[in-house]
Amino acid sequence: MIEILTPAELDRARATGALVADILDTLRQRAEVGTNLLELDGWAREMIEAAGAVSCYVDYAPAFGRGPFGHYICTSVNDAVLHGLPHDYAIADGDLVTLDLAVSLDGIAADSAISFVVGEAAPESNALIRATREALAAGIAAAGPGTRIGDLAHAIGSVLEGAGYSVNLEFGGHGIGSTMHQDPHVPNTGRAGRGYRLRPGLLLALEPWVMTDTAELVTDDDGWTLRSATGCRTAHSEHTIAITEDGAEILTLPARLRG
Ligand code: MG
Repeated sequence: MIEILTPAELDRARATGALVADILDTLRQRAEVGTNLLELDGWAREMIEAAGAVSCYVDYAPAFGRGPFGHYICTSVNDAVLHGLPHDYAIADGDLVTLDLAVSLDGIAADSAISFVVGEAAPESNALIRATREALAAGIAAAGPGTRIGDLAHAIGSVLEGAGYSVNLEFGGHGIGSTMHQDPHVPNTGRAGRGYRLRPGLLLALEPWVMTDTAELVTDDDGWTLRSATGCRTAHSEHTIAITEDGAEILTLPARLRG
């Protein structure tokens, strides 16, 4: 199902997006060498509950996971890239941390992910993060009324592949609205000019992610965390955007970047 939001629903989506972005920004600032992933999860829970929002993750139990997830945020470190299950681990100097958060507020969900390095960053980590950020920016720049999903996929994939990375097609972006995951699927590479034509009121979560030297994932023993098959580092950048009459609006910008 593809949902088109009313202007009133879009206002609620803006509030959800701001909340998601501000929680991620706060966690990023609190994450230091020695911070435990379970502390990050606890702080996420506190902020979600204080806002009167509902976690999209805690009861999430899709076919591919050993569900329910039971936590409030995905914490993926170094070779972990998607669905990182928070566990008893203290962040070390140079760790590449990815936080992915989706919540629902007043019945509308928003989803965002950030990757960053705690402490001294290796050039490999910076390159991974830069590629996903630039791919996300290219996908957003390509989005607008009349644009097709294939145009977004092509824009995202051109940046990732141009930076020398192979793109995994199992997990990508998605529609979002009254629930976290909806149609249309947005692959992280593809051919321009194909697929669903975007309309004002559509919400999309765009989420380029890459791994240094592989496109293959393996599932951790925890039943959730997806890691690079070679043990290489990974990064992920995600925003929820709304298609508007004249382009796209990013809903998950933190307060310091909002107008
Ligand atoms: Mg997502």
